[in-house]
Amino acid sequence: MNADTLLHFKSKLESERAALLHDHERHEQDLRESHTSEDIAGADRASELDEVAVESRIVESEELLLEKINHALERIDIGTYGICEGCNQEIPTARLEAKPSVSLCVVCQEAKESA
Ligand SMILES: [Zn+2]
Repeated sequence: MNADTLLHFKSKLESERAALLHDHERHEQDLRESHTSEDIAGADRASELDEVAVESRIVESEELLLEKINHALERIDIGTYGICEGCNQEIPTARLEAKPSVSLCVVCQEAKESA
């Protein structure tokens, strides 16, 4: 991958991370606030708990994605970005364009998911 393409993906990853961090802060804030409202009871309490469960899952998946983005940025720094971590083949640029944080090619991704 040439330097221009690498820079292109780097800036995509950085803006994705910035947007994600922004959302993530807000969701963590929501989560903290819902944990503190313990004086409500009954049906309100139940729907509050549902909301907390949903928010927790969102926060968790955001954290996972953040890790992937950070990992991809590290790989740019050390020069292995765009190389599949499963088979060491180049990941097609179109796949990276759609999802810059991927570290596996389609074949390895599918193998991992069906494992
Ligand atoms: Zn692969």
